[in-house]
Amino acid sequence: MKEKKSSIEKHSVACPHCGKTVLDHMTQCPFCNGKLKSAYYDTSNIDSAEKRKWKLIILVATLVVVAAIVVIRAVI
Ligand SMILES: [Zn+2]
Repeated sequence: MKEKKSSIEKHSVACPHCGKTVLDHMTQCPFCNGKLKSAYYDTSNIDSAEKRKWKLIILVATLVVVAAIVVIRAVI
C-alpha cells in the first residue's frame, strides 16, 4: 500500500519557475524561492487584506503616538 505516496503525488505540481516538483499548498518554491500560486486559496488576496489591516493598525498607532506627544507637550 502506497496511499501516502499517491496522495503526495496528487498534490505535486511543477514549479513554474524552475520546473521542480513542489506541493500545491506551498506559496514559495523551496528550490528557487519563486512565488507559487496555491491551489487551495488565493494568497495574493489574503496578503493584500492583511497588508490593508496592518496599514490601518500602523496609521491608528501613529495617530495615537502623535496625539500623545501633542497632549504631553501641551501639559508640560
Ligand atoms: Zn522553483
